[in-house]
Amino acid sequence: EESELAELAAKTQDPDVYLKDPDVTMFDQLPLCSRTMQGLAGANWVEMTEIQRASLPLSLCGRDVLGAAKTGSGKTLSFVIPVLERLYRAKWSQMDGVGALIISPTRELALQIFEVLRKAGRHHTFSAGLLIGGKDLKHEQERVSRMNILVCTPGRLLQHMDQTPDFNCDSLQMLILDEADRCLDIGFEKTINAIVANLPKERQTLLFSATQTKSVRDLARLSLKDPEYVAVHDKS
Ligand code: ADP
Ligand code: MG
Repeated sequence: EESELAELAAKTQDPDVYLKDPDVTMFDQLPLCSRTMQGLAGANWVEMTEIQRASLPLSLCGRDVLGAAKTGSGKTLSFVIPVLERLYRAKWSQMDGVGALIISPTRELALQIFEVLRKAGRHHTFSAGLLIGGKDLKHEQERVSRMNILVCTPGRLLQHMDQTPDFNCDSLQMLILDEADRCLDIGFEKTINAIVANLPKERQTLLFSATQTKSVRDLARLSLKDPEYVAVHDKS
């Protein structure tokens, strides 16, 4: 395992190695750990979609990414894989608390993300929780502090930040906004701002949506660092 970690670290210094090589089209050509590779293979995810191909070399190197691609193009794995890889390389364990937050605008989408995370992460040992409301808060409160990866809707996450003793995101490594344009919409503005105020600024942030947000104000709100814009357009 140590030699695998060293090899992975060495291979993820320069995203151009992968971005500029047109022959890189399969997940197993990327520097992914064997646990993630087994999860992907088990779900029959073999060849990368365009948005995965264009964004993973950057996100795996720790860059902030704004990804845009239409619905159905495989954006979920574009952020689930970097989450698994980053926490694995950091040897994240139960005691380390919340390492990654994945925020989704709706319960249904959050549930779908959680299912993809479960499949891709099947051979990892991280604990993952789904915080989407509609269930007893007390029941969640006992477990939420032990979770490494949380998939949540904005309102429910903020409710835990406000009301769950011992819950904090002080050592967070990654923040993901899926359907980012909807998460950054006016209706969620106060909630997202309050959430971000509870997060460390030193972290990796990934934003994915069907349309690209380039609003300087939104990016400032999220303290993105030198983000890479990755857009995949319809070829027709
Ligand atoms: P989006 O979020 O862009 O709408 P999803 O992440 O929900 O897209 O993926 C859409 C569908 O494509 C899902 O059924 C998913 O399992 C499938 N999919 C994603 N990536 C791959 C891949 N690399 N190979 C095969 N199927 C994939
Ligand atoms: Mg999606």
